[in-house]
Amino acid sequence: MSLNHSIDAYEEAVDLMPGGVNSPVRAFKSVGMNPVFMKEGKGSKIVDIDNNEYIDYVLSWGPLILGHSDERVVKKLQDITAKGTSFGAPTLLENDLAKLVIDRVPSIEMVRMVNSGTEATMSAIRLARGYTSRDLIIKFEGSYHGHGDSLLIKAGSGVATLGLPDSPGVPENIAKNTITVPYNDTDSLKLAFEHYGDRIAAVIMEPVCGNMGVVPPKDGFLQDVRDITEENGSLLIFDEVMTGFRVGYHSAQGHYEVIPDLTCLGKVIGGGLPVGAYGGKREIMEQIAPTGPIYQAGTLSGNPLAMTAGYETLSALSKESYEDINNKVDKLVKGFKEAAEKFDISIHINRAGSMVGVFFTDEEVINFETAQTSNLDYFAQYYRSMVNEGIFLPPSQFEGLFLSTAHTDEDIEKTIKAIHKAFQQIEK
Ligand code: PMP
Repeated sequence: MSLNHSIDAYEEAVDLMPGGVNSPVRAFKSVGMNPVFMKEGKGSKIVDIDNNEYIDYVLSWGPLILGHSDERVVKKLQDITAKGTSFGAPTLLENDLAKLVIDRVPSIEMVRMVNSGTEATMSAIRLARGYTSRDLIIKFEGSYHGHGDSLLIKAGSGVATLGLPDSPGVPENIAKNTITVPYNDTDSLKLAFEHYGDRIAAVIMEPVCGNMGVVPPKDGFLQDVRDITEENGSLLIFDEVMTGFRVGYHSAQGHYEVIPDLTCLGKVIGGGLPVGAYGGKREIMEQIAPTGPIYQAGTLSGNPLAMTAGYETLSALSKESYEDINNKVDKLVKGFKEAAEKFDISIHINRAGSMVGVFFTDEEVINFETAQTSNLDYFAQYYRSMVNEGIFLPPSQFEGLFLSTAHTDEDIEKTIKAIHKAFQQIEK
């Protein structure tokens, strides 16, 4: 397999952009490769600029739940684009997507559209602080909630992949308002509330962590967090940027039946265009300007293209779509386990709906500490073999892989063959 054009493109790009990329996780650093430059995608397949085709399990890091360039989405986007790309005034498309989101996400009575997951979490935090008149927030170690100052503390995703400490540039005066506790650890959370309870505006959490690899909540953990926040007059914010409309038809909160006060959305809600959203109880959301005093705004928020891609994507998803994807995930997970057994490779697999985390460890992965017991060298070897076999995965042990409605049984079979080959080749 030749990656010559990607190598040339990268050489040019490193002079133009930091690390040659516009988002650090695209750099492939931790797997000892250069970035692969892509040019097109259709369904479950993506093609690089050297014309290599891959089965794609990155799916733009989650948004493309229908696969690449789904015809329904593309057609509507073409029609809408011809009529103008942004008006800076309300459109009916915003009402349509808002209705759909309110209908599908149990906690959301009112919603505000923004342009990214980062904006959604930053805005939700400001709202929680304004609403409660408190400053402190709690997040969990290894969770990633975008790159807002308050949330870049013990963060997952690219921060974990690159092994970076808390980011320089976040003022100490801001960082000191963020308390971190281990995920899935009710006792630590209780302890934090014993110390700071009446100063905590909110707990923000991924209901299923997807940024330290995939780590689902232990039985009862989400309900514990719900109870503790309620007892202390703090808000519970579910960051469902990754899990929203992915873990299930009603998102993770519907799946686990725990209802937060506020919910952040991103990725799937934009169907591949830049969209985020935050929403929740009416009484809280009405504190946002212009009904309330808490300010948040956006020149391109709710623009027609983004609303269309989101609306068409969500409309195409039925409860059966999730069952279909989950059946394919079952097959893939079984394939991973069989290959691991056959070639005596220790792996631990976590999964929530179509989010899958394959950790090269024999420990049960329940939080960031246990995720870090993974053998990163094995991961890198496996990763490079998979690319060679035409399987495109997130280039980090600390990211999950995703499936779409476009993945076929044939794709899964081909992927399992590649896993066997990759595991067989791992040098121990
Ligand atoms: N929250 C979570 C849970 C995420 O996974 C991400 C992105 N991976 C974000 C927030 C930030 O979203 P964005 O990259 O769109 O700003």
